[in-house]
Amino acid sequence: MSTLSQTLSATERTRLRRHAERGKTSRADLLAVLDAGMICHLGVVVNGAPLVLPTAYGRIGDTLYLHGSSANRSLHAADGQQVCVTVTHVDGLVCARSVFSHSVNYRCAVVFGAARIVTDQDERLAGLRAVTEQLIPGRWDAVRAPTRKELAATSVLALPLTEASVKVRTGPPGDEPEDLELPVWAGVVPMAVSFGEPEPDPALRPGTVTPDHIRLRSGRAGAGRSS
Ligand SMILES: Cc1cc2nc3c(=O)[nH]c(=O)nc-3n(C[C@H](O)[C@H](O)[C@H](O)COP(=O)(O)OP(=O)(O)OC[C@H]3O[C@@H](n4cnc5c(N)ncnc54)[C@H](O)[C@@H]3O)c2cc1C
Repeated sequence: MSTLSQTLSATERTRLRRHAERGKTSRADLLAVLDAGMICHLGVVVNGAPLVLPTAYGRIGDTLYLHGSSANRSLHAADGQQVCVTVTHVDGLVCARSVFSHSVNYRCAVVFGAARIVTDQDERLAGLRAVTEQLIPGRWDAVRAPTRKELAATSVLALPLTEASVKVRTGPPGDEPEDLELPVWAGVVPMAVSFGEPEPDPALRPGTVTPDHIRLRSGRAGAGRSS
């Protein structure tokens, strides 16, 4: 259970100026956007210039965890610095009658804060587990744990979920009233992320069945098992 306020209080940098009515202010909305995703974009200033890179993430309570190689420039530049992390889901292409009114239906979260490289070994492992489980729930316990050498080659970054905004667009296009009579198709083309049939590694040990967590992740639970 979160120890933070269940309402996202707007700060000077999280206050939506454009289309403020699309803002969501409950922490549950923030967690829903984060938990529905697996890739974020980490924005950090490196050597005086902004760098925005996509990366996997996981969440434990009110902390977001990112991981990467210990040689990862952006993770280390982020240590002790202000960063911005975004998570975006595109839900549809909004086709209007005018070029100007075209839009996108989306759910998006923006998190600001001071990040820190995690040094506590237990928290590092928990963070790595969270990132793995965010990608494929059930995977961490099914595979070999990281060795000391692998752990030494990995950095874990933590970001508190204390300052964040959520913006959501839903619904049909917002055409100007005078455009409604135009003989132009308008509406929404829905969009969703889907997984394909799991493709076994050609080097898979004979007889290795596709585990439930993989079938579940691929949306093929209940289908016949194959090796
Ligand atoms: C998939 C997608 C496509 C988009 N395409 C366009 C586009 O083509 N053109 C366009 O103008 N806008 C687009 N947007 C909206 C865009 O993200 C901004 O919200 C918008 O451009 C307003 O920018 P601004 O600098 O005026 O933000 P401001 O309203 O000034 O931002 C102030 C604060 O509001 C919060 N905020 C702003 N935008 C978001 C967001 N999307 N999600 C969560 N918090 C937010 C942040 O905390 C930010 O610091 C798109 C959004 C998404 C998710």
